Amino acid sequence: MKKESGRVVRERKTVEEMVKLYCHQHHDTQGEKLCDRCSVLLNYAFQHIEKCKFHPEKPTCRNCTVHCYSKKNKNTIKDVMRFSGQRMMLRFPALTILHLIDGWKDKKRQEEYFKAEELKNK
Ligand SMILES: [Zn+2]
Repeated sequence: MKKESGRVVRERKTVEEMVKLYCHQHHDTQGEKLCDRCSVLLNYAFQHIEKCKFHPEKPTCRNCTVHCYSKKNKNTIKDVMRFSGQRMMLRFPALTILHLIDGWKDKKRQEEYFKAEELKNK
């Protein structure tokens, strides 16, 4: 089994809670339950976290340079994140802050990565 980095575990947890929040408010579900459509979406998101080619050091999806979601799913997940983003901060402040920090670190790492690539291609 591939070793999971903390950030991947966090990413999965973050997306799960976001979809839950969204589904509870929009589709009248409760607790651990999700409606069919949202379970499919969440599974889709999980699969893409697993499949991510940067795994296990994957950047948070917001910062990712590869847009691996289909157009339809991308729009749906964007809605979910827009809706749940601020609410996550209230409900899961620690998780949200760690996730944001992961994002900031990515920016730096990506800049370094692109710089290195540029030098290679010169
Ligand atoms: Zn739903």
